[in-house]
Amino acid sequence: MREPRFDVLFEPVQLGPVTARNRFFQVPHCNGMGHRDPTAHAWMRGVKAEGGWAVVCTEEVEIHPSSDVGGFVEGRLWDDADLPAHELLVEKVHEHGALAGIELVHSGMSSANLYGRLTPLGPAHLPVPGYEPVHARRMSTADIGDLRRRHRQAVARSLRAGYDLVYVYAAHGLTTIQHFLSPHTNDRTDEYGGSVEKRARLLREILEDTLDAVDGRAAVACRLVVDELIGESGIARAATEELLGLVGELPDVWDLMVGYWEDDSVTSRFGAEAWTEGHLRGLKQLTSKPVVGVGRFTSPDTMVRLVRDGVLDLVGAARPSIADPFLPQKIEEGRFDEIRECIGCNVCVTGDWTAVPIRCTQNPSMGEEWRRGWHPERIRAKESDARVLVAGGGPAGLEAAQMLGKRGYEVVLAEATRELGGRVLREARLPGLAAWIRVVDYRKGQLARLGGVECALESEVTADEILAYGFEHVAVATGARWRADGVGRRSTVALPLEGIEVLTPDDLTAGARPGGARVVLYDDDHDYTGGVLAELLAGEGWAVTLVTPAPRVSEWTTNTMEQHRIQRRLLERGVEVVTGHELRGASSGSARLACTYTEREREAACDALVLVTARLPDDALVVELELREADWDAAGLRSVRAIGDAWSPGTIAAAVWDGRRYAEELDAPPAGDGVPFRREVVQLA
Ligand code: ADP
Ligand code: SF4
Repeated sequence: MREPRFDVLFEPVQLGPVTARNRFFQVPHCNGMGHRDPTAHAWMRGVKAEGGWAVVCTEEVEIHPSSDVGGFVEGRLWDDADLPAHELLVEKVHEHGALAGIELVHSGMSSANLYGRLTPLGPAHLPVPGYEPVHARRMSTADIGDLRRRHRQAVARSLRAGYDLVYVYAAHGLTTIQHFLSPHTNDRTDEYGGSVEKRARLLREILEDTLDAVDGRAAVACRLVVDELIGESGIARAATEELLGLVGELPDVWDLMVGYWEDDSVTSRFGAEAWTEGHLRGLKQLTSKPVVGVGRFTSPDTMVRLVRDGVLDLVGAARPSIADPFLPQKIEEGRFDEIRECIGCNVCVTGDWTAVPIRCTQNPSMGEEWRRGWHPERIRAKESDARVLVAGGGPAGLEAAQMLGKRGYEVVLAEATRELGGRVLREARLPGLAAWIRVVDYRKGQLARLGGVECALESEVTADEILAYGFEHVAVATGARWRADGVGRRSTVALPLEGIEVLTPDDLTAGARPGGARVVLYDDDHDYTGGVLAELLAGEGWAVTLVTPAPRVSEWTTNTMEQHRIQRRLLERGVEVVTGHELRGASSGSARLACTYTEREREAACDALVLVTARLPDDALVVELELREADWDAAGLRSVRAIGDAWSPGTIAAAVWDGRRYAEELDAPPAGDGVPFRREVVQLA
């Protein structure tokens, strides 16, 4: 049961007219489902409420087509047609006794309005961020009046949907209210520009409008950036302190955040748990209203300390609630070793950036609650007495074994090496990635509690053994190998690489290092691996040249909001970066590169090549077993399937998800040609 030192986390908190049952507050977060997948979204939030969060919020919800976020899939409350989706969400959250909050947004000049083609609006005539050939138009007094009226209408609709808490949103660089607050975007000389008080006028008006519209029927939250982290040219601490002096008593709860989204949700590679603490400290004392804030808080002790020290009243969480929707309940019940601790990888964020349902490395059920009927804590009981062998103890094998064990199957998890963890074990030793080991730790902890799962270490299984052991089902989770021949996206045939040392990420993570001093690292993979290995080698003293056909290093990590940090770190560590070039071949002492645009070739002097290109599944076991299908009946073997990287090399998140899928689908009727998950189809007008 609960340890008394955590009692403080379970005290109720008054938020204006409503009461949060404890201090756990799921702040608004994107999920890539929004208005396109409303039922899936509602169920996901419902599971958070079930897990014990006192407040469960939506993502940002557009209040009107004068601000749309184009291809990104967020919430919408443009008119009454959007109400049913919100009513369902509120119902799912209320089912479990939590308060439902809605974050209303007018994105203004942070969005190009690509969907509705209406001109973006903001405090100034400025281009929208990014590269869209679109300018925002300076809002007139009439435009400001329209915005206030539309916000009020959205508040009224939020109340009709049943929300208990309504946000006024001035954070993440994503809202018109912040654009007015910030000298970075507000150059006005009228009553809405100049001093802090004048720049805060729109915020004050919308807060007052919202309080008036809710009229005590819901709490009003204000999400505020306390420091844009761009110095005095933006909102900085002093202005925030002054602002809280002006409007600090207006909302019922303050939701304080730091920087832009990529700061707020910094990965564990670039920011520690509670990195926000220094920025938040002291602000609560400037208002009598409760304060919530985030900082990837996963440790219950950190949470208690922040509350006891008077930094926060409510423990805000997006990612920790994604990785473990049952975090509050587990703390309450003292089940600390059952917490699926967020690893800070931002795979969840990639769902939003690529406009697909949210995914999570630690919690494979995230986004699948309704679509596939997966639950973070429960899985249906076994449907046969089959014995299952899982070969390979990486993320896919670990997840499959533990979920099969939870279903009640008798499972043997055979791992060739002395330790469970596979690629995670190796990758967690790379610079900045230590928190990733939680993927292994959580699953090892779960396995230890399951009577029906036997872990056999130092057990490299062969097809002969499998056919001799009498397992009915075999999941082959033997992982993948990085290629050493240069085949990848750019070149689909092997490159001429002669007389030069060639290493792969597998070699480096196993401890091998280049012989000579100069290394060309060729990254045709574009996720984090190339960048982090360049960082590793540069840190250990090698002269590293990172070559990539992409325009930037670790290009795909724009989706985890890390790309700019990775490139900066490599440049600071003295890595020479050559973008827009492919590897054509290499021989003793040099690599031959070619410009991807002009094909002009050049030589890069080097003693060794590190190839971060493509991977090949390690599926030999499956191939051999399939060749010997004639022997299956006699052996009692009914199915063999490769899972995770052994099926198709991908992210750790994908491997975990595939392990879960295997466990879910064992003994389930085959999907056949049908759509293997539920979806919602737009009704014709
Ligand atoms: P994934 O990401 O798909 O889980 P990993 O590469 O992380 O894949 O893990 C694969 C694991 O399988 C490694 O720990 C490896 O030692 C183990 N392995 C590989 N071949 C065998 C085998 N024949 N029997 C048992 N374990 C194996
Ligand atoms: Fe945390 Fe990664 Fe899951 Fe996001 S995807 S919640 S960062 S573990």
